[in-house]
Amino acid sequence: MEVDDFIIVSSEEDLTDLDYRNMADNILTDIDMLIEELRETLWPLNRFIHKNPELAFKEYKAHDSLTEFMRKQEGWKVTSSAYGMETAWVATYDSGQAGPVVSFNAEMDALPNLGHACGHNLIAIASVAASLATARVMKRRNLTGKVIVFGTPGEEGTGGGKIRLLEAGAFEGVDISLISHPGIFNNSPFVRTTAFVRLEVEYHGRAAHAANSPWLGINALDALVICYNAISALRQQTMPSDVIGMNITNGGAAPNIIHAFAAGAIVIRAASTHRLQELQEKVLSCVQAGAVATGAEEKVKVIKGYADHVPNRVLARSYTKYWKLMPGVPDPPIPPEGQVTWVKASTDQGNISYALPSVNASFAIPPGPNRGPPHSPEFEKISGTKDAFERSLRVAKALAGTAVDVISEPRLLDEVKRQWKRDMNDIS
Ligand SMILES: [Zn+2]
Ligand SMILES: [Zn+2]
Repeated sequence: MEVDDFIIVSSEEDLTDLDYRNMADNILTDIDMLIEELRETLWPLNRFIHKNPELAFKEYKAHDSLTEFMRKQEGWKVTSSAYGMETAWVATYDSGQAGPVVSFNAEMDALPNLGHACGHNLIAIASVAASLATARVMKRRNLTGKVIVFGTPGEEGTGGGKIRLLEAGAFEGVDISLISHPGIFNNSPFVRTTAFVRLEVEYHGRAAHAANSPWLGINALDALVICYNAISALRQQTMPSDVIGMNITNGGAAPNIIHAFAAGAIVIRAASTHRLQELQEKVLSCVQAGAVATGAEEKVKVIKGYADHVPNRVLARSYTKYWKLMPGVPDPPIPPEGQVTWVKASTDQGNISYALPSVNASFAIPPGPNRGPPHSPEFEKISGTKDAFERSLRVAKALAGTAVDVISEPRLLDEVKRQWKRDMNDIS
């Protein structure tokens, strides 16, 4: 029920599905109005970021324009160059009274030679718009708690800006983390991504003349080839979601010598961090096999990638409710509840999802004639269009609705946290 703009929730048992829909409808009306008000100022900001692509940890223009924009918003406190990173930033709206703490991540980085071909301009806009709408609804309805936006640098490659923020304690006391990502295939708040790790392998042997006295040498290239073949054999017994790729980065110096040195790189992807660990151990046995067979000495450098993303089902339900309440639901439809959308890519939001409940909502923007996906030149073009911007505002509204649900219903946050604990147990 609603009295003078305040929702009074007497007890959960008293509420019917219709009550919940009506409440969501009222919240959405507020969110919609506020984001529509912001449309004219958000469009040039989106254009500016898209037209000025910057690489990981060098997102100076994006950092400056976004923090400047947030400073103009009433009631927000903004920290530039936060947590020891030049291009990280934090904006906080605090009701002044204790309550849930909801957060949004705003990615900003572009790709080498491709500009904003991953559409991170749209991610930043969706998160900024959603945070402002959430704060305004809180104010209007006297809801207590905090809204935080983190400007998260360096997502592309293995930059891991979010991991650095996590390790610096930025997410301590934060209850949930929301973010979105554009593509052309899916509309879904229940997205899983893959975990990955990179291994750099070196073999050190002993040089010898291949014709004169090969018995004096230890062949490092043979060790690497044995490793490569052992991994090829291993691939026959892996799971469909496991991916192991390898290349040879140093195949020896000349054909008429026994090779003293050889090197390669291996990338492993898996459906979960736990599975990745299992797979990594199997791959390391293959690396050892090369060393044992030849007598060469192996050296392995493990370059940590990103964890898989574990989506929160309760938060996803909220997002879906608002997405469907808005008119003109775009294709494709959000899959039925509980049906995972697999995106075979990796993101440092995955690491966030292991620390707190997370939603990483995929959204489809209208594709180009060749249906170029993220990281293609065509996707760079479409991520700068007005249509793509419109979709990011729709996403912002659904994200804001999700955040308002968490802030206005304490029991929902309990449910979100219980689900997260179950997910963490299941995955290990
Ligand atoms: Zn990307
Ligand atoms: Zn991306």
